[in-house]
Amino acid sequence: MKASSARVPQKKPKLGQHFLTDTVATIRIVEALGDLSRATVLEIGPGRGVLTSLLVRRARRIIAVETDRVLAAQLRMKFSLTPNVEIIEGDILAVDFQTLFGPKPGSTRPGMEQAPEKVSVVGNIPYFITSEILLRLFEHRTFFDTFVLMLQKEVADRLAARPGTSEYGLLSATAQLYAKVEKLLTLPPAAFSPPPKVHSTVVRLALSPKLETLQVGEEEFVRFLKVSFAQKRKTLWNNLKSQYPPDSLKRAMGKARIQPAARAEALTLEQSAALFRALSNDAGNSKRT
Ligand code: SAH
Repeated sequence: MKASSARVPQKKPKLGQHFLTDTVATIRIVEALGDLSRATVLEIGPGRGVLTSLLVRRARRIIAVETDRVLAAQLRMKFSLTPNVEIIEGDILAVDFQTLFGPKPGSTRPGMEQAPEKVSVVGNIPYFITSEILLRLFEHRTFFDTFVLMLQKEVADRLAARPGTSEYGLLSATAQLYAKVEKLLTLPPAAFSPPPKVHSTVVRLALSPKLETLQVGEEEFVRFLKVSFAQKRKTLWNNLKSQYPPDSLKRAMGKARIQPAARAEALTLEQSAALFRALSNDAGNSKRT
């Protein structure tokens, strides 16, 4: 152990390691998950295990995914006598959720024969991969019901932003397509060791995908949102004209009652969906992707 730590530099710039030291915040994060007595919790980046230590007393089962070898090994030691914790050394962007949370037909453990209950997700996540983590969780959302995550404050503001505000953008629209977003508390850099350069905000995302009420297909609508928000300075019209013929755009905007000069960030998800549906149904629109 000593020999290797002497050889390897201690700095790990690529892991976003800022450990939470604020006890009150730790408790509030875990409490934001609600009653966990029958729940499985996925913890992202447990680090030194401050959140994990609280979770073990509250949750039925915890799966904690930590990419740092040394930390993962330390966590295994720390929780070796705690049967409801499983430490997985791995990358949250690569772990196989199907294997972890999917139905286990061969299992004889009581309650595990069928698809288990939905998993709650918690973590003070590495900020530099926030979008990737969120998108991956949304992609596998059938396994999950609630996420309570510590994010960089500005990212949390964008996730929770209302249409028509300067923070509203593709990330807001995508997150709000899948979940109800709530900001819970904001913490200064001093709540972490070492302190990050930014403030942090804990958000709760309660999954309740709007795809059905909006009557849109997921892949096509997400692609449409990406085109709508492609260039922030441009109007919606100018962003969409790369994909749709002008006649068709004009008819669809009229039908969805959207001003030609509108910007994507001014539209509610309902309005974006109405425009998307009108464009999809427009006979003159042959350039659809
Ligand atoms: N939750 C801890 C640590 C937060 S710091 C606390 O609140 O104190 C972020 C943690 O995520 C670090 O432990 C880091 O090693 C880990 N991490 C970084 N990239 C990761 C990845 N791709 N998958 C899983 N964990 C990762």
